[in-house]
Amino acid sequence: MTARIIDGKRIAGEIRREVAESAAELIARGTRPGLSVVLVGDDPASHVYVRMKTRACQEAGLHARDVPLPAETSREELLGEIDRLNADPEIHGILIQLPLPAHLNEAEIMERVKPEKDVDGFHPVNVGRMVSGDPTAFRPATPAGIQELLRRIDYDPQGKHVVVIGRSNIVGRPVAEILSQKQPWANATVTLAHSRTRDLAEVARLGEILIVAIGRPRFLTADMVTDGAVVIDVGVNRVDDPTTQKGYRLEGDVDFEAVREKASWITPVPGGVGPMTIAMLLNNTVKAADRYATAPETAGLAGP
Ligand code: NAP
Repeated sequence: MTARIIDGKRIAGEIRREVAESAAELIARGTRPGLSVVLVGDDPASHVYVRMKTRACQEAGLHARDVPLPAETSREELLGEIDRLNADPEIHGILIQLPLPAHLNEAEIMERVKPEKDVDGFHPVNVGRMVSGDPTAFRPATPAGIQELLRRIDYDPQGKHVVVIGRSNIVGRPVAEILSQKQPWANATVTLAHSRTRDLAEVARLGEILIVAIGRPRFLTADMVTDGAVVIDVGVNRVDDPTTQKGYRLEGDVDFEAVREKASWITPVPGGVGPMTIAMLLNNTVKAADRYATAPETAGLAGP
């Protein structure tokens, strides 16, 4: 069997068009969805991500306001900036670009964002709401994007055995949570594997859906995949390659060419999960703006 490719780039394009339509409707009702990305310091990769997010916002008709701050920004200055954005009626989503410089406590900074504007879905209130099955919780973009990919290829995880490899708070754990919920496009039986899992290859072979998010190039080999599995590769790894102009290429966590011969569906890297992340972030921002337009007093913008 040669797997069909899950074209994340095309699917993310569809979502971004839908987001643009929703944004246009909101603008017609007097609310232009606004996203603010706060970037502290001058990490080159973070700058690239912020530019990509800003451009995607603009293309979808959203208002994008970058807040670049110097690396030596103090805790008080940064918290003050977040408070201003929390109170700003033009901003419906706030994203703190990670990593932050070492002198800033990431947990404290992230918790300062009002949960109603936490379109990244990392605030403990949103995490808690998501885990308790509250559909109003903002879900983190990458795991929500994985569920959306399954929906758009019409592959329902209900009743399926999903094996997730990797248990980070930004991908593995939330995607395991989302797909095991008693909700449409979920209802799966989920195994969450990690570096201490015994007989990982055997566990992986149980996966009718295999989601790999560990950050190790070509880790998942064909012998770890059962025939006909749907394979979702979240990994983005830079591998030295002097034959390319940049001197490196991007590889996923899956040995793509070999696994492709066993799977029924597979995401490529790049062009699979990656493009979904920004699309889902824009989607969350429009959702936040819609809530504000509908009921500002519950969308965290009224009052102090
Ligand atoms: P992370 O925080 O580094 O977590 C890695 C996880 O993988 C940990 O749970 C770790 O287990 C597990 N792991 C590491 N080596 C393993 C092994 N040999 N066997 C089994 N499990 C192993 O990673 P992350 O932030 O989730 O990112 C994972 C990958 O996804 C990276 O390549 C990252 O660049 C990529 N990513 C892509 C997107 C996107 O938009 N496409 C978004 C986020 C991340 P322990 O917990 O036991 O240490």
